[in-house]
Amino acid sequence: MIPIAEAFASTYAQARARFIAAAAARRLPVERHVHPQARGAEGEELSVDVALLGDPQSQALLVLTSGMHGVEGFCGSGCQVGLLHDEAILAAVEAAGVTILFHHAVNPYGFSWLHRTNEDNVDLNRNFRDFSAPPAPNAAYTEVHAMMVPPDWPPSPDNGAAIAAYVATRGRAALQSAVSSGQSDRPDGLFYAGVAPAWSNVVLRDVLHRHGSTRRKLGWIDFHTGLGPWGHGEKIYSGPPDAAMIARAKAWYGIDVTSFYDGSSTSPALTGVAFHAALEACPEVEFTGIAQEYGTLSLDATLQALRADQWLRNHPDADARIRAAIKRQLRDAFHDEREAWKAMVYGQARVVVLQALRALGTAS
Ligand SMILES: [Zn+2]
Repeated sequence: MIPIAEAFASTYAQARARFIAAAAARRLPVERHVHPQARGAEGEELSVDVALLGDPQSQALLVLTSGMHGVEGFCGSGCQVGLLHDEAILAAVEAAGVTILFHHAVNPYGFSWLHRTNEDNVDLNRNFRDFSAPPAPNAAYTEVHAMMVPPDWPPSPDNGAAIAAYVATRGRAALQSAVSSGQSDRPDGLFYAGVAPAWSNVVLRDVLHRHGSTRRKLGWIDFHTGLGPWGHGEKIYSGPPDAAMIARAKAWYGIDVTSFYDGSSTSPALTGVAFHAALEACPEVEFTGIAQEYGTLSLDATLQALRADQWLRNHPDADARIRAAIKRQLRDAFHDEREAWKAMVYGQARVVVLQALRALGTAS
């Protein structure tokens, strides 16, 4: 295993280079999907990169995704790179006869530019929905939009008072749900689901179909940050409201798997979550999915950072100092540079990967 600081990068370009180098060190071919239009913050090409580790013909596939939420990719990429350098993990993959698919930087634009959303301000983990019918309006979001994305930043004292009044009467959970469940009404708003499948959505479905659809079992761990206690990895069930699937996730990962279906997770109920891609791209395959969600700052601090970043996105001519401060604030809300945090994150990533390998290994 390499020193933890060498696994976690400080830019998208550096993260991608480390991932490519780690795959090369294992002699793994890398499949590259370059974004057709967008470029990165340093002018670099943006891509999703995919590497397969282990027996390519195995009956079981474990998918590990980073950067579904752009800036959260510092964490997921660090875990992916660490795992590729981790001799115990490599030996466990070999022994289990399982294939691991590393899908690096689902949303490379947000990763490079330090956004949680993509090039069109789409929250990818709300974008996996059926677009054949008009989206259902989200009245709860519409009610809070102007309050949450005010015309001025920093917001006025009146704005702070309005939010405090909302929380006092409806509760903090109601605000979190209204803001973050996913909405299709305001492209300039928070947790915007989009009106069509995003490029990253199409790429992910294609990768899952080509590499997953003929297997017997598919496990998926999607790395996220920004909710829960500092450095703690919450295993949030990510799949349909199916009792057998939830029971299987708990059998794999432990009874501390949480779910928004029963209110036990830090995340409220969401719509358009990425697990739909696995169910639709690999319909014959037994699917078991979780999001591994690591805590950073408080929910209030994270939400404040997202509000600031949305304001900045809506005001591209903002003063350079305000821009730099907001970008720093956002980055700090979804990543922690301290070694202790990275070590906690990586240790827990190893555990869930080993648990998944153990469960999937019985397939062959
Ligand atoms: Zn996330």
